[in-house]
Amino acid sequence: MRAFPVQMPSGARYWTVVDDELQVIIEADRFLRELRLARGRAETTTKAYAEGVSLFLRWCTRTGRDWRTAVRDMGLFVLWLRWTPGDGGRRGVVVPGPGAPPVRGESRINKVLTAIRMFLTHAVVNKAAPAWVLEQIYEVGDDRDLPMDARGESGGLRQRLRARHRVHEPETTIDRASDEEIVAMFLECRSARDRFILLLLSRVGLRPGQAAGLRRCDPHLVMDSRALGCNIEGAHVHVIRRQNVNNAWSKSKKSWVMPVDFLVVQAFDQYALERHQLLGEGGSDFLLVNLFRPPYGAPVTTGAIGELCESLSHRARLDRQITPRMCRHAMASNVADAGGRLDEVQALLGQKHPGSARTYLHPKSSRLREAVDRVPSPRLSSKEDDQ
Ligand SMILES: [Zn+2]
Repeated sequence: MRAFPVQMPSGARYWTVVDDELQVIIEADRFLRELRLARGRAETTTKAYAEGVSLFLRWCTRTGRDWRTAVRDMGLFVLWLRWTPGDGGRRGVVVPGPGAPPVRGESRINKVLTAIRMFLTHAVVNKAAPAWVLEQIYEVGDDRDLPMDARGESGGLRQRLRARHRVHEPETTIDRASDEEIVAMFLECRSARDRFILLLLSRVGLRPGQAAGLRRCDPHLVMDSRALGCNIEGAHVHVIRRQNVNNAWSKSKKSWVMPVDFLVVQAFDQYALERHQLLGEGGSDFLLVNLFRPPYGAPVTTGAIGELCESLSHRARLDRQITPRMCRHAMASNVADAGGRLDEVQALLGQKHPGSARTYLHPKSSRLREAVDRVPSPRLSSKEDDQ
């Protein structure tokens, strides 16, 4: 199983996946060809993805798994990726000795996983793999309800998210970006990177300094990260305070872990694709980098994130300017609206004292309504029934 270049009659080239008899793997080929032709991705991008997918298919073949359902054991695959050399362990060399450095680092593993998520999503959309596969690769959405109408592609999920967002939120004067405002800004984003940044602010609740300070090794976007040397369950991002060249600075002294949902994972995947297309393997070790203006590949600054919010508010013709802080308030309030407790909000914001989290809460009017509705009614009618 390996990546293989294909030249089409038009002269365009892309990479596909072939097995040991040089037979093209149909489903992988469909995915890669579409990436190149329909989506206009670079040949080098299809090469990177073909390599990722061929590793996955090779693992499936060697371990007797069906690729359509093998995603159940993604943790084992990550382990295999980490320790199995390029020949796929053909010569029996599977695990280097204790203390030996891993064969692939986290950044490389994350790239392979991105390719596989995109490949499997494509297969599910084309009914070549069962729909539950998506729930295995993307954490199922919770009640925090930022709709992603803008996202396209995975139709079923999109509808469900839309349906969840039927409650109309009235205009408020409080310091919280409303979901409608965030969606309007999201629709005005001109790149996958900007969409990812907006989600990091509004759905993960990061401060601009924390987002700008993320490194490529900080996202652990698999259900099981043990093979990456991390015991935390589910997709998450590590927020770590470091001295950064771009002066990005996490306000919290301690490091903490932020669970993320599948919307963030998907936005990350799309950004990873975009970054790879524009920069290849290059660019700095920072997660968020300049893609559209020089110096290319240099880390995005904290100030640039603030400016992004400003121009998005402007382009979306909002009545007011949404700041990164208002996005963070929106995230905290959405968690609370979905039933999150104060201590949970506090932990998610990376704060030391529950009191600090309290200022971030702006309950939705619909939640206040529900709070009233939850109070049991006195048995007035039943008394009449008794008579
Ligand atoms: Zn982790």
